[in-house]
Amino acid sequence: MCPGCPHRSVFHALNRLKAFVTGDIGCYTLGFMEPLAAMDTCICMGASIGNATGLSKLLSSEEQRQVVAVIGDSTFLHTGINGLMDMVYNSSSSTVVILDNRITAMTGRQENPSSGYTLMGADSYRVDLEQLCRAVGVQHVKVVDPYQVAATRQVLKEEMERPEVSVVIARRPCMLVKRDPVARKPAVTVDIDRCTGCRACLKLGCPAIEWRTTTEGKGVAHINSLFCVGCGLCNQVCNVDAIGDINE
Ligand code: SF4
Ligand code: SF4
Repeated sequence: MCPGCPHRSVFHALNRLKAFVTGDIGCYTLGFMEPLAAMDTCICMGASIGNATGLSKLLSSEEQRQVVAVIGDSTFLHTGINGLMDMVYNSSSSTVVILDNRITAMTGRQENPSSGYTLMGADSYRVDLEQLCRAVGVQHVKVVDPYQVAATRQVLKEEMERPEVSVVIARRPCMLVKRDPVARKPAVTVDIDRCTGCRACLKLGCPAIEWRTTTEGKGVAHINSLFCVGCGLCNQVCNVDAIGDINE
């Protein structure tokens, strides 16, 4: 996933929560790869939600709560909404995460009905995902900012524990979409005196985070300033505040 990708923290959280993730087709399918390693099935467009419903019918009520379907906004509108309708209808207790990055990223950043623009770039009606989910019977719909690592994880944890269908919309535009006011911020840097070499930041799988050995032989994280967009995720997972703004 790209540096600054808004999907990263969702998969990071699902990995930590030991979720069984039924995935879908999009750039976020990369969530199956190490170190995020948080996607267990991926069959075809729209299959994530139907797979989660089916799995929930085979598992104990405790195990059902570990099942999380992950689908992107454009895939959800393409073939996911019908699966969600059936998930409610069939009284599943799974959680559905809609990764709302406001674009169809994998195939070249095309618009879709939730982006608010036509394929020609003209203003258009933007589908309200929250209302749409409620319209098919989902009683619990929450919106999170995936750049808030702890809050995102907490909401996912709470909704996974809920014995009913719930939807978590992780909303943050794709870093590559210039139209949205997603400011590329200055690269962050690692204070190598503070860094303990715990590698927690490397578990995010951000291509900007590298590993170096100092002249004293100490292994430390290093941020490649050419790639880093200053999203701040690594700063939030470092327990010793070794990662800070380059201007500090
Ligand atoms: S999380 Fe912090 S302490 Fe751990 S390797 Fe990264 S920068 Fe160093
Ligand atoms: S702030 Fe950290 S996680 Fe975000 S792009 Fe830079 S190195 Fe990657």
